[in-house]
Amino acid sequence: MVQHKIPQATAKRLPLYYRFINNLHHQGKARVSSKELSEAVKVDSATIRRDFSYFGALGKKGYGYNVEYLLEFFRKTLDQDELTGVALIGVGNLGTAFLHYNFMKNNNTKIMMAFDAEPSKVGSDIGGIPVYHIDQLEEKMSDVHVAILTVPSGEAEGITERLVKTGVSGILNFTPARITVPDNIRVHHIDLAVELQALVYFLKHYPLNGGQE
Ligand code: ATP
Repeated sequence: MVQHKIPQATAKRLPLYYRFINNLHHQGKARVSSKELSEAVKVDSATIRRDFSYFGALGKKGYGYNVEYLLEFFRKTLDQDELTGVALIGVGNLGTAFLHYNFMKNNNTKIMMAFDAEPSKVGSDIGGIPVYHIDQLEEKMSDVHVAILTVPSGEAEGITERLVKTGVSGILNFTPARITVPDNIRVHHIDLAVELQALVYFLKHYPLNGGQE
């Protein structure tokens, strides 16, 4: 498969490219230059040219890249034709926000079900998504292999162990806890508090002038 030949750094930029190319397609644009792409996605044009050569897309001078070709490639590579079901564990403030967020706008993933331990939340329907009791995790998750974790950090490890047993292949961990999983399971960790603190630190110690001063 083509996908295996793409370096990880390039693969990480794929969704970004896809979103922009999809917008261009909706606007009826047939082609795009690497300069235009570079300005829109904030990736330098040399990187874009290298990335796109992995996609088999060779830009022609004075013509640019064929939008239709790229879109087709991204759809296939990102499995956009196939909907990926996701489960969310922990329907607190953050979890509730995700249940209302339409991930399908930008990619073909959808939260299919949510779990919580709090009886008042179980049995409800938030943003069209059913909330089940955490005790039903194993029973309901058989067809879902991706999970978003928004439980309190003290609960993260125990729930992860259960998710591993259900055969989950990827976890997006929003708790501050570092969770341990077997090697065949991918965990992406997003700690919003840490990200925000890092941003504030960088603003203070590495201010950007952007040539405006
Ligand atoms: P957030 O952290 O998302 O802002 P919050 O402050 O409203 O949420 P937390 O205490 O962080 O609430 O809990 C997040 C959610 O996780 C709550 O809805 C809580 O009921 C749920 N929760 C707690 N323990 C478990 C568990 N063991 N299994 C499933 N859900 C749980």
